[in-house]
Amino acid sequence: MSRVLIIGCGGVAQVAIHKCCQHPDVFSDLCIASRTLSKCEKIKNELEGKTKTNITIKQIDANDYDALVSLFKEFKPEIVMNLGMPYQNLKIMDACLECDCHYLDTAAYEPENVDDPVWRQRYEERIKEKNFTAYFDYSYQWEYKQKFESAGLIALLGCGFDPGVTQAYVAYAKKHEFDRIDTLDILDCNGGDHGYPFATNFNPEINLREVSSEADYFENGKWIRVPAMSIKRQYDFDGVGMKDMYLLHHEEIESISTIYPEIKRIRFYMTFGQSYLDHMRCLEDVGMLSTTPINYEGKEIVPIQFLKALLPDPASLGERTVGKTNIGCIFTGKKDGKEKKYYIYNMCDHQESYLEVGSQAVSYTTGVPAMCGALMILKGLWNEKGVHNVEEYNPDPFIEALDKYGLPKSESYDPVMVD
Ligand code: NDP
Repeated sequence: MSRVLIIGCGGVAQVAIHKCCQHPDVFSDLCIASRTLSKCEKIKNELEGKTKTNITIKQIDANDYDALVSLFKEFKPEIVMNLGMPYQNLKIMDACLECDCHYLDTAAYEPENVDDPVWRQRYEERIKEKNFTAYFDYSYQWEYKQKFESAGLIALLGCGFDPGVTQAYVAYAKKHEFDRIDTLDILDCNGGDHGYPFATNFNPEINLREVSSEADYFENGKWIRVPAMSIKRQYDFDGVGMKDMYLLHHEEIESISTIYPEIKRIRFYMTFGQSYLDHMRCLEDVGMLSTTPINYEGKEIVPIQFLKALLPDPASLGERTVGKTNIGCIFTGKKDGKEKKYYIYNMCDHQESYLEVGSQAVSYTTGVPAMCGALMILKGLWNEKGVHNVEEYNPDPFIEALDKYGLPKSESYDPVMVD
């Protein structure tokens, strides 16, 4: 029996809320707190009479630290699941420390305003030191390790699918399949079709920031930078078929390369259709992906935020999306002195996800691991205190829970490799 507070009520949060409500024995009291109260009301009404979980709702602006603290003091959650935007990660972690609750999120901290001079200076230094240019990195949240440890609390970072399950797959591969892992390719394929010429499957602002950034991978202890979308491969995905995929920077490369320094090369690929890429390039060329505010007829607007308001809400894509996602990790390495290959992945069907919880598979594959991560902490199966990424914990109970609650693993011992 636990009190759980979820911040955000978008695509990912709605799945996590549904999944928590399927387990009222653990998630007995749930507070959904988000910026737009009507979204919280809608899901509460949908679940009324279908779950034994007691649901309360609250309007909150997660930028308002005092409001966070007063809500946490009033509701007294054991864990806060931050399923809103990564801009508020640090504020919410501070509030958790002040109010004595565990913390979980699905995306690494990045600032809303990337022109902030203090943040910018540290960003430039990080580029020189580490040589990757993404706006997000784990250093800000890793700095909280000591504070969470001393408070006897857990902050579980990046507990979606990627980041999240992909790192559990690394820990699982190392525990059961390899004495030493040499290379890792993380492949994220969305074979879904929503019928729109252009829409993003999760928060458009975060998605477009990520995809339009310079790409890189990690090799022999160094980050290798390459222009965005400059490395393209084709892969025949189980359940989906042949797709074009592009090398991207992704946040779990930073944590896996830190926690498993033995891995000589880590790359991340994501599939994109030509229509998505053409639209993105055009929007970028005309300045619509800019995060720098402009003055339009006396009002300050941020182009990418204005674009978000025009695009379909990712939470509304469920009904019209068909096809499957396939996300997983291909490893090479050694076991008992012999070279070995191993592929572990999950396939998730958009329409099956929609029929179960009313959401498409990208939200589903993120919301289910968030629920399972909270389950691990609440049941005491993951109990090492401090700030941790998913691959630092025992992968077995987590992967078992994923198998049981909607994201079963598939395995191959002879996968086609990415060249
Ligand atoms: P959505 O845009 O659908 O939802 C975001 C929610 O957060 C909305 O309900 C929004 O409110 C709320 N919100 C935004 N700002 C605030 C604020 N200041 N105070 C309170 N609530 C706020 O995004 P998604 O659900 O698609 O994504 C959620 C998170 O999950 C993102 O950080 C994303 O990067 C991450 N993600 C992680 C993945 C993984 O595999 N690890 C994969 C996909 C996403 P409002 O309704 O008012 O807009």
